[in-house]
Amino acid sequence: MNLIFLGAPGAGKGTQAEIVSEKFNIPAVSTGNIIREAMKNGTEMGTKAQEFVQKGELVPDEVVIGIIKERLAESDCANGFILDGFPRTIPQAEALIEMGVKIDKVIDIEVPDEKIAERMSGRRVCPQCGASYHIEYKKPKKEGICNSCGSELIIRKDDKPEVVLDRLNVYHTQTEPLISFYKEKGILVEIEGQEEVADTTALTLKALGGNA
Ligand code: ADP
Ligand code: ZN
Repeated sequence: MNLIFLGAPGAGKGTQAEIVSEKFNIPAVSTGNIIREAMKNGTEMGTKAQEFVQKGELVPDEVVIGIIKERLAESDCANGFILDGFPRTIPQAEALIEMGVKIDKVIDIEVPDEKIAERMSGRRVCPQCGASYHIEYKKPKKEGICNSCGSELIIRKDDKPEVVLDRLNVYHTQTEPLISFYKEKGILVEIEGQEEVADTTALTLKALGGNA
C-alpha cells in the first residue's frame, strides 16, 4: 500500500503517518525529517536547504524530488510506504507520476488555521532522533525528555509563531492545490483532525479500510 499524508503544518500528519507505519509495517518517509537530519549533519543538501526551512519556505522541488527518488529506491519501500510531507507542490506530485509511483490513497488531515498556531506552539522535537511530541496532545513519558533516546526536547526554529504564519501561507498557496489534484484522481480521503490523537487515528484507520 502506497499512501500520502497531506495536511497543513502541525495538522498531525506526521503522528498519524508513524502510527500507520507501525500498524501496517511499512516505512513512513518524512521529507522534513530527512532534511533536518541533513541540516544537523551539515551535508551539502542540508546546507542548501537550511535557508529555506528557517524562513518557512519550501525547499526547491528538484532537491526534494531527488531525496524522494533515492529514498523510494531503498528496499524497505518495496512493499509499500507512507509519504509524510511529500508532495507539497503540484510539480512534486507530477514527479511521482513520472517516476511511475502508484499511489493508492491520499489522506488529507484538515485542521482550521486558528487551531494550527496553538498546536504548533506546543510542539516539541528531539534534536537527536527527530521524534515529535506535543506538551498537551502527545506528551513524552517524562516531561521534556525524548521517549526513544532520552535527549532533551527542543522547539524547532521554524515552529516559532512568526515563521508558522509564513508556513501556513505557503501551505495554502502551494500545497492546498494538491487536494483537488488528488480528488480528481478519486483517491483523496478527507479527515477532520480531532483534539485527541487516538480519535484522529480511528478516522484514519477507518479510511484505510477497517481496523487492521
Ligand atoms: P511539518 O511537520 O510542520 O508539516 P515538515 O517537517 O514536514 O513540517 O517540513 C519542515 C520544512 O521542511 C518545511 O517547512 C520545508 O521548508 C521543508 N520541506 C519538507 N518537505 C518538503 C517538500 N516536500 N517540499 C519542499 N520543502 C519541504
Ligand atoms: Zn530522541
